[in-house]
Amino acid sequence: MIAQALFGTLFIAALALFARNIRRIGRNIHLGRPEARNDRKGERWALMARVALGQSKMVARPVAGVMHILIYAGFVIINLEVLEIVIDGLFGTHRVFAFLGGFYDFLIGGFEVLAVGVLLACVVFIARRAVLQLPRFHKPEMKGWPSKDAMIILVTEIALMGAFLKMNAADQVLAQRGVEHYSTAGSYPVSALLQPFFMGMSDGAVIAFERFFWWFHILGILAFLNYLVVSKHLHILLAFPNVWYSKLAPRTEFANMPRITGEVRSMVDPSVPPPDPAQPRTVAGVEMTERFGAKDVFDLSWKSLMDAYSCTECGRCTSECPANLTGKLLSPRKIMMDTRDRLEEVGKAIDAKGKWEDDGKSLHSRISEEELWACTTCNACTQACPVNIDPVSIIMEMRRYKVMEESSTRPALTSMFNNIENNGAPWAFGPDRRMEWADEMKS
Ligand code: SF4
Ligand code: SF4
Repeated sequence: MIAQALFGTLFIAALALFARNIRRIGRNIHLGRPEARNDRKGERWALMARVALGQSKMVARPVAGVMHILIYAGFVIINLEVLEIVIDGLFGTHRVFAFLGGFYDFLIGGFEVLAVGVLLACVVFIARRAVLQLPRFHKPEMKGWPSKDAMIILVTEIALMGAFLKMNAADQVLAQRGVEHYSTAGSYPVSALLQPFFMGMSDGAVIAFERFFWWFHILGILAFLNYLVVSKHLHILLAFPNVWYSKLAPRTEFANMPRITGEVRSMVDPSVPPPDPAQPRTVAGVEMTERFGAKDVFDLSWKSLMDAYSCTECGRCTSECPANLTGKLLSPRKIMMDTRDRLEEVGKAIDAKGKWEDDGKSLHSRISEEELWACTTCNACTQACPVNIDPVSIIMEMRRYKVMEESSTRPALTSMFNNIENNGAPWAFGPDRRMEWADEMKS
């Protein structure tokens, strides 16, 4: 009874903490600008099924792709067993689904095989990082916490799967001895190999081991649930909505700024009225003035902020980025990490003060002009990203801010801007000379 009460308390506390953190992340995402992304629903569901559920972009790199699918499938499917563990924990039952008979045997046997698959895949992933030292895992933005974060989760998954198998082994030793409460239901193709470890022990000692691994497994999962929300592993949850809300327009299509488009239209055609002034937007208790481009996270679309939380820090974008490959400072992964870090910083400040108070910093405090202007807008990063994240939108919005609000640009672009303004084209010739090349061809 005490164990049930303790389990119930911990279970409810873990779920409450998780719900609170998810609400906080949802609030942070909604600090961004509104943007409609719920058209063409059929296409979106199909995209989510293919890219998030089917992991179609992961397998572009087959070794990592297959290993990831193994971990993902194993983790999701094995966690079906958590339902049984929770019911057992709350009601003091033991293997409550054992009445399923042959199907239960199949499930438990399948879980054990998958657990071995997850274990092996985690070992391979650790080896790729720590032994093979794949370059994309050792770029400057991966120093410190991001590397530790990845390792913590891999080691935790190994520990959880190990506890699951050892729990089953101890459980079956007790069942075979006919100890009260333990049943022989289930099949145990892997944990049977671990049973000799418990054979020479007294019933009491095996029960202690079984209970230890049971508690370790379930508390580990509850801790993992709450760790997700402060780590890059939030992608386990956010990959699905993030892909659903993907940009469906061609990757390289840039969205115009409606206000600027309206103003240009009214300039060139006096019959077109100028656009209405923008409605002020209140965010976190503060009225936001309209800006051209993005100075801070408030000026980015909510989807860019969801992208930031969905980033797995896999570095596939950076490893395909021509700017990064040619030694430039730009790393699209860093753009996403910086955006998330700044969003977290803003969110924590709002939590502390109840509203947003300008802290004198912005997204530009973390992302330099050199990085922004190194982007060729080739979209290799968006193509490579396994969860359809779009770093280019953030880069372009930040560039727009630099150009339109601060008149800050690269010297090489200044003459192009002047020419567009004066000649309506990027070249240094007036519109009256535009057809000279054709006239010369004729003569
Ligand atoms: S669009 Fe920019 S950030 Fe993305 S791969 Fe190309 S150069 Fe790199
Ligand atoms: S943006 Fe996508 S490809 Fe790049 S690190 Fe994040 S998840 Fe990986």
